[in-house]
Amino acid sequence: MTKTEDEWREQLSPEQYEVLRRKGTEAPFTGKYVYNKDTGMYRCAGCGADLFRSDTKFESGTGWPSFTEPAIAEAVETHTDTSHGMVRTEVLCRRCGGHLGHVFPDGPGPNGLRYCINSCSLEFDPST
Ligand code: FE
Repeated sequence: MTKTEDEWREQLSPEQYEVLRRKGTEAPFTGKYVYNKDTGMYRCAGCGADLFRSDTKFESGTGWPSFTEPAIAEAVETHTDTSHGMVRTEVLCRRCGGHLGHVFPDGPGPNGLRYCINSCSLEFDPST
């Protein structure tokens, strides 16, 4: 999926644009899904792709929605991110290339991963 920066700016809120397209980070404990415990699917706020299921969400204490794994492995891609003097693994939506957050090797599940995702990169779709 390729859109021009103008098209993204038109479609997304300023905060979503800053995170998804400019790799920003929302302030911790400010996002709308930090404490969301409802059942459903978290979709990409940029393109609508299914990204994370509510049953993989856990309370990490970090202030960002945290998941143990993507809804399907192919939904996301990862890149090494050396910005801000750290070496981290960036998580992007595979379909639209939007920046979602980072993944860290200290998660509670069997794969030991913690996907630390910005709320504003996500659009939650509750199950009916
Ligand atoms: Fe996307």
